[in-house]
Amino acid sequence: MTKIAEIFLSIAGEGSWMGRPAIFVRFSGCNLSCEWCDERHPAIDMEFGDVVSKVLNMSKTINRVVITGGEPLLQKSDCLSMVKIFVSSGYRTMIETNGTLINRLSPEELRILKLCEVTVSPKKGHVSGNSIRAAMNLSSNFKFVVGCKSWSLEEVKEIVEKYGIPKEVVWLMPLTVEGKIEDKLAKEIWNFCVENGYNYSDRLHVRVWRNEKGK
Ligand code: SF4
Repeated sequence: MTKIAEIFLSIAGEGSWMGRPAIFVRFSGCNLSCEWCDERHPAIDMEFGDVVSKVLNMSKTINRVVITGGEPLLQKSDCLSMVKIFVSSGYRTMIETNGTLINRLSPEELRILKLCEVTVSPKKGHVSGNSIRAAMNLSSNFKFVVGCKSWSLEEVKEIVEKYGIPKEVVWLMPLTVEGKIEDKLAKEIWNFCVENGYNYSDRLHVRVWRNEKGK
């Protein structure tokens, strides 16, 4: 059984696919417990084949799939099997991960991850050099959530420079608090991105739908 939180059609609200329509498969469960996490949906046990067929039959026009969580690599066998199926069925596929499990993947598992795009969202206190370096060998973007309980702007810059992450794959995004984005924080991050050559990510789904499930 695959533990799934939700499967839905929406617009990608964050990072490099921001604004693009996509099918979302949200895996349930995470190995971290960030204080500000807004992804604690109850798990539904689904047959792997039912998850796949639901995605493949969801839309005749949308050919992007985002596999997200929680932490999808906690269920790596199902997650990587989905990547293979979606990619071979013609879907552009992205995995969103906190990056903590990437350095435990085998060469064969990493080869499968290379078939898709990977968005790594490193979490404060859980950054490992091995995982960052392993992720840099994939087609990865790095998305840092900036705000009081998460990263500060200077901490992000330190990590990016320490590991030599190319600026064009670095996205900085404001933390949302109670379903809201503070304009002051967003402007501060925006200006920092302009000064340093990083990408700014908004959270479009939060702007439009607040915390509504399935959006
Ligand atoms: S890594 Fe992401 S899903 Fe996991 S607890 Fe932190 S914010 Fe939530």
